[in-house]
Amino acid sequence: MSFEIPVSKIVQGLEPSATLAMSAKAKEIKSNGKTVYDLSVGEPDFITPQHICAAGVEAMKAGFTKYTIASGIPELKKAIAEKYKSDYNLEYNTNQIVVSNGAKHSIHNIFFTTINPNDEVIIPAPYWVSYAELVKLSGGIPVIIPTEESNNFKMTPEQLEKNITPKTKMLLLCSPSNPTGVMYNRNELEAIAEIVIKKNLFVLADEIYDKLVYGNNKFVSFPTLHDKLQERTIIVNGVSKTYAMTGWRIGWTFSPVNIAKKMGELQSQETSNPSSISQYAALAALTGQQNCVTEMLTAFTERRNYVAKRINEIEGLSCPEMNGAFYAFFNIKKHLGKKIGGVLIDNSEKFCLELLTQKQVATVMGSSFGCEGYVRASFAASLDVLKTAYDRIADFIEGK
Ligand code: PMP
Ligand code: GLU
Repeated sequence: MSFEIPVSKIVQGLEPSATLAMSAKAKEIKSNGKTVYDLSVGEPDFITPQHICAAGVEAMKAGFTKYTIASGIPELKKAIAEKYKSDYNLEYNTNQIVVSNGAKHSIHNIFFTTINPNDEVIIPAPYWVSYAELVKLSGGIPVIIPTEESNNFKMTPEQLEKNITPKTKMLLLCSPSNPTGVMYNRNELEAIAEIVIKKNLFVLADEIYDKLVYGNNKFVSFPTLHDKLQERTIIVNGVSKTYAMTGWRIGWTFSPVNIAKKMGELQSQETSNPSSISQYAALAALTGQQNCVTEMLTAFTERRNYVAKRINEIEGLSCPEMNGAFYAFFNIKKHLGKKIGGVLIDNSEKFCLELLTQKQVATVMGSSFGCEGYVRASFAASLDVLKTAYDRIADFIEGK
C-alpha cells in the first residue's frame, strides 16, 4: 500500500465501548451456532411493548417519515416535560428539552456544548464506559475519583471537594449507577449539592435508570434538592431502559435554555432529527399505559434478588446491594492470580475472556469501568439464562 489516510489524533486515542465490544464478541460466538449466556450489554431482554411498536407503525403509515425539527417534535418535548413535572414536580419548558439519538448522543451533545479544552470533568469511578471517552473527545479532561466497595462505591463529599481545582467545570453523577447498581440517598446527594453550589460547578445528572429502582429505595432527581440546582444541572434520560427501547435510539436532555438552544443547533449540523418514527413511538411510551414499566420492574426485581443470592453463595465473590439499574458489579480479587483451565487469571479482562471462552458466559471487565478487580454482569436476562450463567460462573471459579 503506497498511501494510507491518516487517522486524526483525537480518534487515535479513542477507546471503543467495552460493553458493545463484549456484546459483539458474544454475538459472534452465537452466530457460529454456540449458545452464549450473555450478561454483557445492559439492555432489557423484553421486546418493546406492543402499543409502543404500534405507534411506530402508525407513524410510518401516516407519513411521519420526514425530517422533523432537529431537536425533536414539539408533542414529544411536551410529553417529556409533563412526565418530569408529574413524577418529580420539576418544571421545564419545551425550549429546555432536546431529543437526541439515544441518551449517549445526549451526553455527547452536553460535553460538546459546555466543555472547553482542558476543562476538568469530575467522574466518580466505577463509571459507565462512555463518559470519560466522550469528555476527551470534547477536549476536556476527565478527573476520575476512585470510590471504595466498603463505601458502596459512593464518592464522599470530602473526595469531591479535594478534587476540585480552578479548572473543574462539571460533575458527572449517575445514580442509580451503571455499573454498580448503587444509588445515592437524599442526604448523600444533598451533601454533594452543597459543594456543587459552593464551588460553582454544574452537573450532568444521568437519570436513565430513574424507573429501575428496587425495594424501599427512592429515586431523587438531582435538581429537586435545592432551588439553585435547576440552573446548574443538565439531566439526561430516555426511553431505552424504562421501555425496553434500546434500538429505537431516543434520549433527551433538560437544561437551561441557552444550552438547549446550542445543543439543538449542534444537532442540526451533526445528525439532524432523531428518527421521526422513533419519536412517535417514544411519545406513545410516555403518554400510554405505564403497566408495562411496572411489569418489567417486577421481573427485574425478581432477577436482582436471585442474582444477589447467587453471588453471595459463590466462594470469594461479593457485591454491594443493588438499589437500581440492572447490573451486578462483583469483586473477583480473591480469584486473581489463580490458574483456571490452565490459564493464569491476573486481571478482570482475563477473567471475562476466559469465562466467555471456557463457559460461554459473557460479562464485562471492571477495568473498562475504571475499577480493576471487578466484573459487571447484567441481569437484564431471563431467570433461566441467569441460573445457567451463575452455575457456570461457579463452576469456572471452582475450576470444574
Ligand atoms: N447512560 C447510562 C448510564 C447508560 O447505562 C446508558 C446505556 N446505554 C446510556 C446512558 C445510553 O443510553 P442510550 O441507549 O439511550 O444511548
Ligand atoms: N449502557 C449499556 C451498557 O452499559 C449499553 C451499551 C452501551 O451503550 O455502552 O451495557
